Amino acid sequence: GPADGTPSEDLREEYRNLADAIRAHRYAYYQENAPTVSDAEFDELFRRLETIEALHPELVSNDSPTQEVGGDVSSAFAPVEHLQRMYSIEDVFSLEELTVWLRRALAGIEQRSPGSSVRWLTELKIDGLAVNLLYRNGELVRAATRGDGVTGEDITHNVLTIASIPRQLSGDDVPEEVEVRGEVFIPSKDFAALNERMVAAGKAPFANPRNAAAGSLRQKDPALTAERPLDAYMHGIGARTGLTAEAQSETYELLRRWGLPVSPYSEVLDDEEAIVGFIERYGDKRHSLRHEIDGIVVKVDSFALQRALGHTSRVPRWCVAYKYPPEEVNTKLLDILVNV
Ligand code: NAD
Repeated sequence: GPADGTPSEDLREEYRNLADAIRAHRYAYYQENAPTVSDAEFDELFRRLETIEALHPELVSNDSPTQEVGGDVSSAFAPVEHLQRMYSIEDVFSLEELTVWLRRALAGIEQRSPGSSVRWLTELKIDGLAVNLLYRNGELVRAATRGDGVTGEDITHNVLTIASIPRQLSGDDVPEEVEVRGEVFIPSKDFAALNERMVAAGKAPFANPRNAAAGSLRQKDPALTAERPLDAYMHGIGARTGLTAEAQSETYELLRRWGLPVSPYSEVLDDEEAIVGFIERYGDKRHSLRHEIDGIVVKVDSFALQRALGHTSRVPRWCVAYKYPPEEVNTKLLDILVNV
């Protein structure tokens, strides 16, 4: 580029094209549940955009894909404003990047809250669709998709068809109001059978369990949703009144007691070594779990420290997703073909 460090016209054009491509891919993925590229390819485009922005911050506008939670709201559903915003998660793609992220988070905590000890709530990243459940005095009054993080789509009737999500919470300590966030998914054992049924009915099979979950949940007719093998695990809370807990792992205990489904795989870990052990363990058995995963999520467990770190317009600074390297199915297939 020009010697003064400003972006060249070529780079500006690449930047615009990248942003447009990312918007188009997001539309296909979130609105049509029909991705046009693989997640790994999408992640690479997104990363390239982030790199250009890091080198040339003057290019970043408020509507850059890096500043927004992807996922618009379809007019097929009534819009729902979340009481508290929903965010995406920052990705890292190697253990080295994870180390850098953890050090940065620890430094941020040390700066804002010196002497704190940090524990890491470590979870599987469920390959499903995010939902926001609003419970008032224990009753499910509304369920919505994440949408753009501010406004989601009203899918209450569809969510009520999911057997593991209670309409009424049980217990005498249910809060006055709580937004429970979680992931709706199709269990691995049911995914292949669902696709066989789709094909037998003359319909296109789903590309992956995430698209199957999204397509099943975002139906106009709840009777169709009811026929799909949907399940869910809760992994966070938003707005709350009358709920006191100091740490996210503590809320999981409460949610479980009230009858909500919570992942059995989560662990509270002390340090990076333990987190890496978790990543390795689940990397080996990622295809023999109840659901598909596309990585591991690591969260600062303490709510006070989460608040101390805060968030950007797109992601919390207290949470990161480690993505496993993409599996080279196509390359292997190619090898086989080449070797015949
Ligand atoms: P994301 O799906 O990578 O991460 C954020 C989401 O993870 C949260 O909203 C939450 O619903 C979910 N999640 C699952 N398990 C969780 C847990 N244990 N704790 C907390 N959250 C958990 O972020 P995103 O912004 O929705 O989308 C980016 C992802 O979607 C990338 O993986 C990208 O590859 C893919 N994508 C692909 C295309 C495509 O064209 N192929 C387009 C857009 C996005």
